[in-house]
Amino acid sequence: MFATFLNFIFPPHCPSCRVGVPRHDQLCPDCSAGLQLSPELFCQRCGSETGSAVASCSACDHNPLAPDYLLAPFVFAPPISQLLIGLKFSDHTQWAKLIVTLCWPHLHPTLQQQIPIDWVVPMPLHPWRLISRRYNQSALLANKLAYLLQKPVATNVLHRVRWTTPQTRLGAWMRQHNVAHAFQAVGSGDRCAGRSVLLVDDVLTTGATVRAATAALKQAGISRVGVVCMARAMEQAKQ
Ligand SMILES: [Zn+2]
Ligand SMILES: [Zn+2]
Repeated sequence: MFATFLNFIFPPHCPSCRVGVPRHDQLCPDCSAGLQLSPELFCQRCGSETGSAVASCSACDHNPLAPDYLLAPFVFAPPISQLLIGLKFSDHTQWAKLIVTLCWPHLHPTLQQQIPIDWVVPMPLHPWRLISRRYNQSALLANKLAYLLQKPVATNVLHRVRWTTPQTRLGAWMRQHNVAHAFQAVGSGDRCAGRSVLLVDDVLTTGATVRAATAALKQAGISRVGVVCMARAMEQAKQ
């Protein structure tokens, strides 16, 4: 009854194009049809562009600190980019559930094959940035994904220990340099040893951030790190 009243006062609308929809937290059919699945042109471990789907690029072959698998189902383009930008910069925290719901059918089959996953770990923000933004958008996404996976979230494993310039302001080489030593994973060797974690971030760009965070987790003894980003920024689709 209350929900009906609320829907009367605040009619549900598509968060992307604002056309009316039957329920809150859903895209209209046109926007749903506009979702672009990421092409398979990338290393399946680190996400770097290889021109074809390869299980492991040459850099990952020789790097025990590289991610073990990486999923980024959508191209960072409307409507998913609008949802991710709204989540990150405009306090639309309620969109985290919709974003994960849209990604879930494209994540679930692979993640089922990667079980056991001990912890779902959100990409951390530096404490100062967390204070200014008031929430970590990756943590909101990780919470929803962990709920669907029925796995615990661990927010105290990985920390951002160095202030970094936002990656979007930097070129590819500088991004790698910018996030070097930005992360530290904590816990005694016993706590992390042999664990399998799923690292969750919002958008994959060059992959420098996820590679740096994965390396920190593995240096603390985590044996297996998978990565989920909701979308992948591609040159021709960057907003
Ligand atoms: Zn729409
Ligand atoms: Zn790779």
